[in-house]
Amino acid sequence: MKNLLLICTGGTIASTKTEGGLAPGLSPEELLRRVPDARAFCHIDAVQPMNLDSTNIDPSHWLALSALIEENYGRYDGFVICHGTDTLAYSGAALSYLIQGARKPIVLTGAQRPIDREDTDARQNLLDSLRYASAGDSGVCIVFGGHVIAGTRARKTRTKSYNAFSSINFPDIAELRDHRVVRFIPCGESGAPRFAHALNTRVMLLKLIPGLPADSFAAVSAHCNGLIIESYGVGGIPDAYLPQLEALAQAGKTIVLATQVPQEGSDLSVYQVGHRVKERYQLLEPYDMTLESTVTKLMWVLGQTQEPREVRRLFYTPVNHDLLF
Ligand code: ASP
Repeated sequence: MKNLLLICTGGTIASTKTEGGLAPGLSPEELLRRVPDARAFCHIDAVQPMNLDSTNIDPSHWLALSALIEENYGRYDGFVICHGTDTLAYSGAALSYLIQGARKPIVLTGAQRPIDREDTDARQNLLDSLRYASAGDSGVCIVFGGHVIAGTRARKTRTKSYNAFSSINFPDIAELRDHRVVRFIPCGESGAPRFAHALNTRVMLLKLIPGLPADSFAAVSAHCNGLIIESYGVGGIPDAYLPQLEALAQAGKTIVLATQVPQEGSDLSVYQVGHRVKERYQLLEPYDMTLESTVTKLMWVLGQTQEPREVRRLFYTPVNHDLLF
């Protein structure tokens, strides 16, 4: 029988009705009481380091979760984190960078309806997660709606339906079918896990819209070491912002030119509007990485080093299936 640690952080799964709307209120014991079948295949200890709507989750919580798993890594066969769905994809990506090379399953899950509602998806998601975490090697992943998605590849693509998460630019790593795990992608990790202990939160995102005031660049750049510019299509910078890009590069900012198109990723080499800036300003591009991974990878990279060559090397080193290019 596998020994699992259930880490409850809040979210809809643990929410109850209040006068002001749903808010996390249930304890880990109350969650576990709704999945009695789990006792047949695993032993579960539970902790609740925070009890938040995931709207309130920030990088300090990712570091706290990673530290909690590091402390307990030797004691358990796997970890299941109950988390709100709104920022779950960011947390899955952040934990993928903070905890690298883990073979033990570190599963994030949540629900679209509270666990005490009759029509809830929470019981199934929690039971599936416990089952998946009991099934063997895996690393950081998300179990939701029967899908198992690599921690770096998930995005919340639906606000209300039970199949809220999609795997972006990568297949599901497994599925749960009738209580069975059907695995498509084997766990690639080996050896001992490596835990990182720092994130640089001075990372910002600027989404281009036609007509964006040019001084937006200086406004955000004042507050960041790394800037992700979400541009259009496979990627490019409008002529009007070339002086702003020059100023960012002169100021030594790490610049990532990303795309706001959800599928298939960037390729700055295709159009003149991308090609002309990529080499000149030493821009990084995400290729097929998700935005959630790009943001958290940049926080992790800039938390380890500010040296441009090392930043580039780490950014382009694949972690937990985040980058195929
Ligand atoms: N607002 C909730 C949260 O992210 C939504 C959910 O869990 O589904 O905590």
